[in-house]
Amino acid sequence: MKNLLKDQVCLVTGATRGLGQAIACALIEQGGIVYGTATSDNGASAITHGFKRIEGYGHGYGCVLDVTDAHSVGNLITKITEQSGAPLVLVNNAGITRDNLLLRMKESEWDEIMDTNLKSVYRLSKACLRGMTKARFGRIINISSVVGATGNAGQANYAAAKAGLIGFSKSLAQEMASRNITVNAIAPGFIETDMTHALNESQRQAIMKNIPMAKLGAPEDIASAAVFLASSMANYITGATIHVNGGMVMV
Ligand code: NAP
Repeated sequence: MKNLLKDQVCLVTGATRGLGQAIACALIEQGGIVYGTATSDNGASAITHGFKRIEGYGHGYGCVLDVTDAHSVGNLITKITEQSGAPLVLVNNAGITRDNLLLRMKESEWDEIMDTNLKSVYRLSKACLRGMTKARFGRIINISSVVGATGNAGQANYAAAKAGLIGFSKSLAQEMASRNITVNAIAPGFIETDMTHALNESQRQAIMKNIPMAKLGAPEDIASAAVFLASSMANYITGATIHVNGGMVMV
């Protein structure tokens, strides 16, 4: 199916690479006007350049955003609204890891994860809700993780933030349902991106043993779920978490 998101203004955080890049490209292919964010000017230019090469019905722009900076968030939403209209599809994708066993975890490693992976979603969602409420339409899609459901040794900070996103999504879904604003989460399993390229061979083999489909996912597998949730096909879905993990965890 094509043109599911014709002229829909979309904002995807962390679109320089990995899942965010694939999601942004898929939204453009479906006719969206997509703003993808990077933390640097060079990254933003590369996004704009990459978007120009996509064959599809929509178009997009790269822009700079630090999701931990409230001013940066406010300024970006104002700029997008002036340029194209309020973003009515928000994909909260930007995320980092700071893995460590809790016994060794520094407070800074905990705080960085909470700020970048969880508080950022509060900031961006709140900033977009005004435009969504006015339009009586909105789609917020939060990229959680399978470890938010299962936990993972060495990732207490990351798993807590990703589980937090699911509770956040369900709560906001209840608050905004009557305004036709849906809030859902996607919980990817292990997907081939820079984040998982950091795993060594024995870690990869151990993970593979637990995936019935015996392979890591592709970023496009997550992008498909995001397009679905952003489109009218998911009009009656809110507060849900879609697990995309090759059968690794069946919840
Ligand atoms: P990635 O390749 O490491 O890319 C991370 C993205 O986040 C980059 O675009 C980066 O921008 C951006 N970012 C980092 N810090 C930021 C900040 N302070 N402000 C704004 N943007 C920031 O990650 P990925 O593997 O695609 O993962 C994307 C999301 O999916 C994350 O939330 C991750 O937790 C989640 N996830 C991934 C997997 C997986 O297997 N890959 C599994 C489950 C969940 P710059 O390039 O400019 O730094």
